[in-house]
Amino acid sequence: MLHVNFYIAICAYIGSILLALIGIWIWIEFNAHGGYLTGLGASQKKWRCDYCGYVYLGSRDEDVAQCPRCQSYNEV
Ligand SMILES: [Zn+2]
Repeated sequence: MLHVNFYIAICAYIGSILLALIGIWIWIEFNAHGGYLTGLGASQKKWRCDYCGYVYLGSRDEDVAQCPRCQSYNEV
């Protein structure tokens, strides 16, 4: 009886860890692919620097964004 409870407890422990990992994985995937639709990504846009070619995230609302690598200003 004690043996069965021990294995049930181990299985529940491992299962809960796996569920947490799967939940974190789904959350990361959702944010990576749906970032433009929800949350902080709503006002962000992918910019490509005209001078050094660096790709970075900047504001979607503004017409000018500063490159974080070479500090140049890029227009839409
Ligand atoms: Zn640049």
